[in-house]
Amino acid sequence: MTQQAEITSAQVEKAAEFIIKLRPFYSELIVFYQAVFMAQEEAKQTVRIDAKPISKDMLKLKLKEKFPLVSVSDFELDEVSCRQLFEKISRIILEKNPGLKSSAEVLIAAMDKGDLKVEDLCRALLASDDSVFEKYAEELKVDKKLLAFIAYNSVKPSLVVFAEKTAQQLEPDYFWGKGYCPVCGSAPAIAVLQGEGERFLRCGFCGHQWSAMRIYCPFCENKDSKTLSYFYSESEPEYRVDICEACNKYIKTVDLRKLSRDCYMPLEQVATLHLDLKAQEMGLESGTSLHLEP
Ligand SMILES: [Zn+2]
Ligand SMILES: [Zn+2]
Repeated sequence: MTQQAEITSAQVEKAAEFIIKLRPFYSELIVFYQAVFMAQEEAKQTVRIDAKPISKDMLKLKLKEKFPLVSVSDFELDEVSCRQLFEKISRIILEKNPGLKSSAEVLIAAMDKGDLKVEDLCRALLASDDSVFEKYAEELKVDKKLLAFIAYNSVKPSLVVFAEKTAQQLEPDYFWGKGYCPVCGSAPAIAVLQGEGERFLRCGFCGHQWSAMRIYCPFCENKDSKTLSYFYSESEPEYRVDICEACNKYIKTVDLRKLSRDCYMPLEQVATLHLDLKAQEMGLESGTSLHLEP
């Protein structure tokens, strides 16, 4: 199995508590994301969507040509769930992020009045239609990036459910061998090492996890061990940052073999921002576009 087992919001809470104990300087950030991720895991339980069936011939062709099963604009959304989660995340921001409190108030009021159609934003996100975000940002005088952050995090449970169902059409031990997601074609946000040292990449858009070669840059397909390296800190042996000198990109890796605590990958991603800073100080670029900061 390449997918994580079903995760409950209680497990998210436990994983967050561990991280706060280990790295108290992240407390405020983790408390915020813990609330967002718990709300997402709860929402995921009620998401009702089906995968898009792909015919046998089409599937064969896609796998042969290494075309992802669907494109980002094909994803189905549970609009009721997206709306509820948009409001919930706005309330989490209202409560836990003083700097964005007034923006969150504006958004909640606009939703109440019907001036903000959350489904429009969510659809625009899938269609990469920036104009809808611009329109609302201007009308409501709210930062466009904040709108994108809340919209992405509101559609996430739908994305994950849709990706899980779509991925069922792949053989469980199918080896994709590419650096982009076999489900949606997006770049990986983080990598995982587990078992006997098997490497998995985790999609930055839909959360699908697929197995990958150990010595391999997912961003430029470099396989030359002379130009692939990594750095890590002795105080955090569970993390490392894989670097490719060919394309100058990096990807963070969580080594599950060195972890005995509860772990929730989206939280690990947030709790390793110091590694992003270090990599960027070294002149490296992230290979993924993250929707991390609100
Ligand atoms: Zn994906
Ligand atoms: Zn590369």
